[in-house]
Amino acid sequence: MPVLEKLSPKNVMGFFEELSAIPHGSGNTKAISDYCVRFAQARGLQYQQDEVNNVVIIKEATQGYEDDPAVILQGHLDMVCEKDPGCSIDMETEGLRLATDGQWIWAEGTTLGGDDGIAVAMALALLDSNDLPHPRLEVVLTVDEEIGLLGAAALQTDLLQGRLMINVDSEVEGILTISCAGGVRANCHVPVEWDLTAGMLCRLSITGLTGGHSGIKIINGSANANVLMGRLLYGLSHEMALRLVSLSGGMADNAIAAACEATVMISEEEVERFRGLTASYAEVFRSEFRATDPNMQIECVVDDPAEVQTLTLAATARVTSVMMLLPNGVQTMSAHIPGLVQTSLNMGIARLQEHAAVISFSVRSSIATEKALLCNKIDCLSTVLGGETTYSGDYPGWAYNPDSKLRDLVADVYEKQTGKKAVIEAIHAGLECGIFAGKLPGLDCVSIGPDMENIHSPRERLNVASAERTWNLICEVLARAKEL
Ligand SMILES: [Zn+2]
Repeated sequence: MPVLEKLSPKNVMGFFEELSAIPHGSGNTKAISDYCVRFAQARGLQYQQDEVNNVVIIKEATQGYEDDPAVILQGHLDMVCEKDPGCSIDMETEGLRLATDGQWIWAEGTTLGGDDGIAVAMALALLDSNDLPHPRLEVVLTVDEEIGLLGAAALQTDLLQGRLMINVDSEVEGILTISCAGGVRANCHVPVEWDLTAGMLCRLSITGLTGGHSGIKIINGSANANVLMGRLLYGLSHEMALRLVSLSGGMADNAIAAACEATVMISEEEVERFRGLTASYAEVFRSEFRATDPNMQIECVVDDPAEVQTLTLAATARVTSVMMLLPNGVQTMSAHIPGLVQTSLNMGIARLQEHAAVISFSVRSSIATEKALLCNKIDCLSTVLGGETTYSGDYPGWAYNPDSKLRDLVADVYEKQTGKKAVIEAIHAGLECGIFAGKLPGLDCVSIGPDMENIHSPRERLNVASAERTWNLICEVLARAKEL
């Protein structure tokens, strides 16, 4: 017995319910991808399924729209699988238990996958329709967006003629996203040498910082534990001979480091001064970040005398210099969009290994050249210190296009349909649109979506009326595609 039967738009809700019956967590997308292929085959539509399970489906223009530019409609097939502790559903093999009160749709005990199943359902409903006018439609359904935009990165674009794209993967109705950041992970390697040294081992820890996503939260200017540790080590080593023994800060390049621990060796006579200096730095740090990191803890534990391998003084100075000198946090703000971080970097990980200290950054910018400049700065310093910088996970940004016709049309239709002005927004994090903008030169793109709450959690829910308005918006934009 269908659960969403009474909801409209009927066809969209019907497909959403069918999709929800197929397990489709990230990395488990073969079944849902095959479902889309069977859908295309049953309707005689041209399609392409690639080895990672992305699916592209083409529907030719309806009568009168043959000469108008093709429009790409895009969403992702995979969902985040989260469930309540007591929930017995095996999300690898079982479908979701949908529920609705007419106003909202959710899944009992699990994530709903409205992110991004509603986009897939709308795309299928459009492909299935025979009464909706549109230019050539190119539906692109990607996989593994939630674990690093992997499907979009692997996608072959040979079937795509369109340079206009509507991405349906936002979760606030009325917000048109028109730019996102590109990013890269930069790993700065600084060579180190070790020596056997006798003295007092002291353990320093900075913990309890607020942390958070290095794209979304970087604007808050909160403390980064690796940066503070660099400052503390620099300050202490200017007062006394200090040798680094271990260093471990942060969990991921794209998370603001919430904790960092270091072990250092000093001489026995310096212990009291070391304690005093550490306490005064702790006071300074807590005062500077009182507003953003109220739970900051800085501790210093002095062990017994020992003789162990430590970094030489020169190697300690090299590592400290990198942590002191390399930039961190917001670098530039957008001149086009008030409040948007344009370029930033985050010193996410600091680790001392056998042959090198490795300091890893997540570098982000909506301007490719600014991203490159920051990478050059990191490389510059590591080269001077005899090291090198390696890069991974590079993905392009999606720069603001002041002349976007698609943005203007979507905003106009939205205002006519709802009586409200659309909010134009850019985000300082990665979106699939960035990858597409990199692959399809000249792409004019917007990202929209219906109201959803608590995505990626078992409390996720999708607003029914908002989904209907978003559907009407897409249909009307396609009907007016002649204006593009
Ligand atoms: Zn999504």
